[in-house]
Amino acid sequence: MTNPDVIVVGGGIGGLGAAYALTRRGLAVRVLERAAAFGEVGAGIQLAPNCTRILDDYGLLDEAKSLGVLPDAMIMRDAVDGTELTRLDLRDLERRYGFPYLVIHRSDLHAMLLRACERAGVDLRTSQQVTACANTAGGASVTLAGGRVEEARVVIAADGLHSVARKLLVDDEPVSSAYVAYRGTTPTASGRAAEVDLSEVVVYVGPRCHFVHYGLRGGELLNQVAVFESPKARAGEEDWGTPDELDAAFAGTCDFVRGGLPDMWRDRWWRMYDRDPIMTWVDGSIALLGDAAHPPLQYIAQGAIMAIEDGWVLGEQVARHLGDGGWPAVLAAYQAVRPEHCRRVVTTSRAWGELWHLDGLARRQRNVLLRERDTYDYAFVDWLYGPTALDPADEPPMFTPIPLSSAKPDALTGTGG
Ligand SMILES: Cc1cc2nc3c(=O)[nH]c(=O)nc-3n(C[C@H](O)[C@H](O)[C@H](O)COP(=O)(O)OP(=O)(O)OC[C@H]3O[C@@H](n4cnc5c(N)ncnc54)[C@H](O)[C@@H]3O)c2cc1C
Repeated sequence: MTNPDVIVVGGGIGGLGAAYALTRRGLAVRVLERAAAFGEVGAGIQLAPNCTRILDDYGLLDEAKSLGVLPDAMIMRDAVDGTELTRLDLRDLERRYGFPYLVIHRSDLHAMLLRACERAGVDLRTSQQVTACANTAGGASVTLAGGRVEEARVVIAADGLHSVARKLLVDDEPVSSAYVAYRGTTPTASGRAAEVDLSEVVVYVGPRCHFVHYGLRGGELLNQVAVFESPKARAGEEDWGTPDELDAAFAGTCDFVRGGLPDMWRDRWWRMYDRDPIMTWVDGSIALLGDAAHPPLQYIAQGAIMAIEDGWVLGEQVARHLGDGGWPAVLAAYQAVRPEHCRRVVTTSRAWGELWHLDGLARRQRNVLLRERDTYDYAFVDWLYGPTALDPADEPPMFTPIPLSSAKPDALTGTGG
């Protein structure tokens, strides 16, 4: 078996995006996925202009549009009284950034990337559990369950929250937020779902909970996500995030939000973890990518997007540096630009979650500030939605929330579902 140029560990959205980006630069890429089949579990995902810009570069934007929904507005409401707090005009936002805000089923996004990889000639392999990664004289190797070793010039570890390769760089653990997400998709042909305006992405923010909805598959499905803090998690119990907690967490919310709870899948839920940011992602010829490097809480809806950006940046750095400086130069250029951006996203996501889930006086103060915001003020999102930087010097400054009278969070966007 000939060694590929690159082994990508993990065939999630991040791994497939990277495999495609590198293959289109002429490299031989092998993806090793531990599951028996490629696929995604979950429901919807939001793709902001910093991602649709990359899909356009890959020639995949029209396909993505045909699979998803292009909403007109993103609206934040108070979950208790249902009133509007602030909104983004997504048509104007598309004009500003040049690319649309798109919502799409995860499995449709993943399948689209898989088809692109197949067309490009990526060597896609399932039932391949990687147990270790190591640097070698000629590059890097992975060891598979069963003991087989495979080698390549470079290993890209896109193996998610519990990454095997991350242990080479840091001895850390996922950080529990004590929040849990329930998801559900409902046909829009009849019932409550038929009444919902699918031109809107809406998040209802409430005390220790929030609720998101938007349309999928050209409006055939309503995607809803209910997220709450688990009292059992806070009490240190093992069995946390269970459906009884779901109903209790939303008891004080408005009729519309409570009306969505019966649509949630109750046989599975997603406990929400992130990790503290790390600023070194490269160890010799092994590089982390996606959630393996920077798993965020989902509040600004950038986790999968960051993973896709990582892959695109790697591909661009190959084009710029592989000929002259070889892989060390490529990985150094990747390492130079991505960790700081992703650190900002991870920390902003945490802060944003705190803001969403306020109670009492702080909730009322937040609402006053959000209602004051000008719909067409993009200071909060320019650093996120603008072009993905290839050099540290191109990384836009974050919005600084000064003066205090207009203090607002770093990123006023994203509904994280
Ligand atoms: C409720 C919720 C809502 C979200 N909403 C959004 C959103 O709107 N927008 C957005 O951009 N992001 C969102 N995210 C975040 C996003 O889902 C993740 O950041 C993204 O899917 C990470 O992709 P990844 O490929 O890096 O990792 P993963 O999706 O975890 O993929 C890792 C892959 O590696 C495989 N693997 C793992 N270990 C091994 C191994 N040892 N050997 C071989 N294969 C292995 C796994 O089977 C998997 O296929 C959300 C997350 C949650 C929980």
